[in-house]
Amino acid sequence: MSIDLKNAIRSIPDYPKPGIIFRDITTLLGDARAFRRTVDELVQPWSGTKIDKTAGIEARGFILGGAVAHQLSAGFVPIRKKGKLPHKVVSIGYSLEYGIDEMEMHVDALTPGERVILVDDIIATGGTAEAAVKLMKKLGADVVAACFVIDLPDLGGTKKIEALGVPVRSLIAFEGH
Ligand code: AMP
Repeated sequence: MSIDLKNAIRSIPDYPKPGIIFRDITTLLGDARAFRRTVDELVQPWSGTKIDKTAGIEARGFILGGAVAHQLSAGFVPIRKKGKLPHKVVSIGYSLEYGIDEMEMHVDALTPGERVILVDDIIATGGTAEAAVKLMKKLGADVVAACFVIDLPDLGGTKKIEALGVPVRSLIAFEGH
């Protein structure tokens, strides 16, 4: 099964810059069987448990997180880049390779104690997911897990999230960057 999913992901060397292998999930999303299996696998540990919300990180986390929320009969919460959400927000800065950026959530998107799972396509250095977890914790949410299709274990992101006390689950792993 993980071999099927791996084969459904397109790897593009030297994009967006030399030395990076871009793991393109658009081919997986466009393959009906692979997309369904991915969502089924992401949902599997949580079926029968109470999950109030699924949070997805802009933009690919919206596609996967929306499907996971639907399957779990949970609400969906978008975590967006600065300036995109219309209502009052909470925000957090995080480091990118060059400089820093900010991500935001609506201040009323999660209430204290709500059980939420975070969904994104890839965990690399973990900087993005770390900021998302901290943002949700700011609102008092119970972050039950962080779930990804792909882990790049050599970059150490999973350990970073586990250090925040949040279990991490990824469906497949690729070596290197
Ligand atoms: P990071 O904060 O380093 O864990 O990076 C995570 C974000 O960057 C994810 O939302 C991914 O969409 C994107 N990303 C990082 N590395 C790759 C890669 N090799 N291929 C595709 N997307 C990537």
